[in-house]
Amino acid sequence: MGKFDGKTAVVTGASRGIGRVIAKKLAACGATVIINYNGSESKAAAVQQEIIDEGGRADIFQCNVSDFAACEAFFKAVTEKYGRIDFLINNAGITKDGLLMAMKEEDFDSVIDVNLKGTFHCIRFAARQMMRQRYGRIVNMASVVGVAGNAGQANYSASKAGIIGLTKSAAKELASRGITVNAIAPGMIETDMTADLSDKVKDEMMKQIPLKRFGQAEDVANAAAFLVSDEAAYITGQVLHVDGGMAM
Ligand code: NAP
Repeated sequence: MGKFDGKTAVVTGASRGIGRVIAKKLAACGATVIINYNGSESKAAAVQQEIIDEGGRADIFQCNVSDFAACEAFFKAVTEKYGRIDFLINNAGITKDGLLMAMKEEDFDSVIDVNLKGTFHCIRFAARQMMRQRYGRIVNMASVVGVAGNAGQANYSASKAGIIGLTKSAAKELASRGITVNAIAPGMIETDMTADLSDKVKDEMMKQIPLKRFGQAEDVANAAAFLVSDEAAYITGQVLHVDGGMAM
């Protein structure tokens, strides 16, 4: 018996990185996990297979979260096939870093479109079913830079700060329907997203981390599994920092 038996979880951007580990964690606790991806179909299928091999239940769905109509179709299809959406983990995200004065409009827009609007789209359509159920758990992936800012990441920081505001507003709107909405603000986590940073940048980052190590996707997945659990039933509208103490 897993503590999430009978639950259906949608994890966006679960083909790689943090989303992949969250999907595996929720599945290991008994949830049926919908692995969303945009471009990496073979990687999403590999995550599904790993979960099935470990005795879990998983499905894969392609959807570009920045596309409003595609998200509507995605959540309709999930609801028709599984009958419920208990957990939504809005994890899909991209970076297009650059200094503000040189940043192209399209690089600002695309990061906002995927990270912030994508989160809005998924909440918008998942909440429909959650309201019918009078139950739901939504976890949005923010970032330490959405709280503290970061030179070279004006677009990304703005998207993540926006996610925090969106989280709090959604928490207030949806609380009466038994739906909690929280955010996680990871610090520096070792994934594809951070793999290409120079040693100089990584050394600078390390100086800002009191716990003196970079985070692992498991650190974030543990926080997500807590926020969707019954133990977190009285927590909503909060930002849980998983950053080794970077922001406090
Ligand atoms: P990652 O390894 O680059 O993986 C990103 C995931 O997002 C992939 O599965 C990708 O799927 C998916 N994705 C990207 N664009 C998408 C779209 N338009 N529609 C649907 N899925 C899309 O990133 P990560 O490091 O795991 O980061 C996961 C989340 O944590 C992001 O929101 C990120 O901003 C946040 N975060 C990360 C860190 C860190 O240090 N790594 C720190 C703070 C916050 P495809 O490959 O199929 O396109």
